[in-house]
Amino acid sequence: MSVLQDLEPRDVFGFFEEIAGIPHGSGNTKAISDYCVDFARKRNLKHLQDESGNVIIWKPASKGHEETAPVILQGHLDMVLQQAEESALDMEREGLKLGVKGDDIHASGTTLGGDDGIAVAYMLALLNGDYAHPALECVFTVDEEIGLLGAEALDMSVLEGKCMINLDSEEEGIFTVGCAGGLTGECTLPVKRVPVEGVLYEISLEGLKGGHSGAEIQKERGNSHKLTARLLARLDERLSFALVALEGGRVDNAIPGQTVCSLLVDAQEEDVLLEEARAYEAVIRHELRASDPEVRLVVKREGAGMEQALDPRSKALVIYLLHMIPNGVWKRSVEIDDLVQTSCNLGVVKLLEDALTFTHSVRSSVESEKLALSDQVRLLTEFLGGFYEARGVYPGWEYQKDTKLERVMAEVFREQYQREPRIIAIHAGLECGIFSSRIEGFSCVSIGPDIRDIHSFRERLSISSARRVWEFLLQVLERF
Ligand SMILES: [Zn+2]
Repeated sequence: MSVLQDLEPRDVFGFFEEIAGIPHGSGNTKAISDYCVDFARKRNLKHLQDESGNVIIWKPASKGHEETAPVILQGHLDMVLQQAEESALDMEREGLKLGVKGDDIHASGTTLGGDDGIAVAYMLALLNGDYAHPALECVFTVDEEIGLLGAEALDMSVLEGKCMINLDSEEEGIFTVGCAGGLTGECTLPVKRVPVEGVLYEISLEGLKGGHSGAEIQKERGNSHKLTARLLARLDERLSFALVALEGGRVDNAIPGQTVCSLLVDAQEEDVLLEEARAYEAVIRHELRASDPEVRLVVKREGAGMEQALDPRSKALVIYLLHMIPNGVWKRSVEIDDLVQTSCNLGVVKLLEDALTFTHSVRSSVESEKLALSDQVRLLTEFLGGFYEARGVYPGWEYQKDTKLERVMAEVFREQYQREPRIIAIHAGLECGIFSSRIEGFSCVSIGPDIRDIHSFRERLSISSARRVWEFLLQVLERF
């Protein structure tokens, strides 16, 4: 029984319902990829399916648009699988149970896959129908949600177009025109240990909110490693101590909320340590009162004894390196409001037996700034005798002003909506970044209808918004 059959535009919601019937979580996209191939074959449309399962379908220009360069349309085939505890659906094998409530389409107890099923539905409807447009190159990628894998594997040299409309945004009225690239530096600084006697203390710097190192870096929340390094530098000026342990952070792309260190002090200096810790706590509580009001230092006396601690030189190097390493917002955009252009995050820190290891992630929508910042960390680490290796390098998508694409889209938007579109860029990776790094002279805008609570079982797609964005898309293609 069709649930969406009465909704207009019929083709868009018809295809949306069809693909919702095919399980298509990330890593399980063979069936939906084959479905697209089958769709193209039945309509005699030129198409390609690569080894990853990415599909490209071509459609010639409509009459009168033959002279215009082809336009690429793009969205991803995979969806995030999430379900409510009470949902019994086997999302690997069974289709979604769609429902309509007011203006929303939802799936009962599970994610809807509006992200990015609506893009797939739009493209299939365009390919199926009779509309005015330049030649179309519709790109359906796999496994976007688990690291942009499909886009990464796609051979983009088969595409002729240089203008792309990406359909993976989830707020109507917003044009996304840029994203960040990134990389993670893996750093290792060798250290030496010696046996040291004293009173052992464990100090935990905790209660910070942490957060996502891209989406929340502009919130200026405290980084527990940086705050701990500053504490150690301060202690080093006021008493003599030996560093035994230092650890914190779980993943590279999260701002760490807790760092724990252990140190040895002389019995005569215990009071100085406690006093200094209290004084420092007061300082950072004041500094972070708006962003991290719960920040605190928890100091525990573990008792007297002998430990393998860093020798004085190793201790000095560790403190210097962590204290001096860049962290947080590095530069803001002066072209796009509220955009962090370049930032970095000290993510996971571990003091091992013979080395300090840490990860340092850089993000930037300007490729050269990404490289400059990672170079700074590499030089600092190497200068102090350590090693640096960059991994997980992905390209950014730099904003280009005044492209034909943005002009046409903005013009159509003003006519349809009687207001200006909001132009934004985001401080995280998108598939568009990979396209922009491989296609010479590339221009792109990302749009989409309102989808709420994506990646959760409350995900829902606004029917009226999906309809307006469809009409907008048709107008843009006709005008192009
Ligand atoms: Zn998406």
